[in-house]
Amino acid sequence: MSSESSEVTDNLSRVRERIDHAASRAGRGAEEITLIAVSKTHSAAQIRNLYHVGVRHFGENRVQEWEAKRAHLSGLDAVWHMIGHVQSNKAAKAVRLFDTIDSLDSADLAERLDRARKDFNTEGSEITEDIEKSREREKGIERSKTARLRVLIEVKLDPGETKSGVSGEDLAPLVKAVLRFPHLELHGLMGVPPYFDDAEKARPYFRRLRELRDAIRAEAGNNLLPVLSMGMSHDFEVAIEEGATEIRVGTALFGERGKV
Ligand SMILES: *Cc1c(COP(=O)(O)O)cnc(C)c1O
Repeated sequence: MSSESSEVTDNLSRVRERIDHAASRAGRGAEEITLIAVSKTHSAAQIRNLYHVGVRHFGENRVQEWEAKRAHLSGLDAVWHMIGHVQSNKAAKAVRLFDTIDSLDSADLAERLDRARKDFNTEGSEITEDIEKSREREKGIERSKTARLRVLIEVKLDPGETKSGVSGEDLAPLVKAVLRFPHLELHGLMGVPPYFDDAEKARPYFRRLRELRDAIRAEAGNNLLPVLSMGMSHDFEVAIEEGATEIRVGTALFGERGKV
């Protein structure tokens, strides 16, 4: 084993241990929590290393960067998450390159994703068909052409964040709008609290995301929005205690990112 991949193996065991401890403190099973390895700025080779030690979910925050890397990762049966802001003009490309968009934050983007997914399912440009066919070959599956695109709505938890996320007040109307799109399947919410050295300070933000979800459930149905994507390298234990079902971990798995 190369030193790079044994380092990644060690990092993964440490993260899994932290997940186990946090889950048992919260009286939850560790298997209820999906680990998403956030691979932005890291190479396709590093993604492959983590895949080979069992990680099956990866998150990227830029369409362009992921497009370049995925070309080197054919054959991996993983779920690729878009966790960054999706610009309107990248919506169609994002639909072709990702299995789930976790950062949906406007009705306009929902409409674009819905339309793009419809095109993807039905006619399909040449490039779409190529990618889709090779994916099916790689995965040994026939991907249903009527499948909906999984989406999460990103809620703005950090008042200082200007680029992405819907405000708490605008969440309910956006949920209603997204539920009407036939080619989208809304699974839950994602949120990023402000950064605190003391992770405990992030707790009220995680709790708020869960409470916003619970308020929507009270109105629209108890099975709605089962997924809460919250918690990063330095604060995921607190997020798990507050009900996270997916955590997004970069640094603790891959090491520090270079400045980009
Ligand atoms: C980069 C990023 C992460 C991972 O952050 P780490 O602190 O490296 O674990 C998680 N979520 C989002 C939205 C990110 O952009």
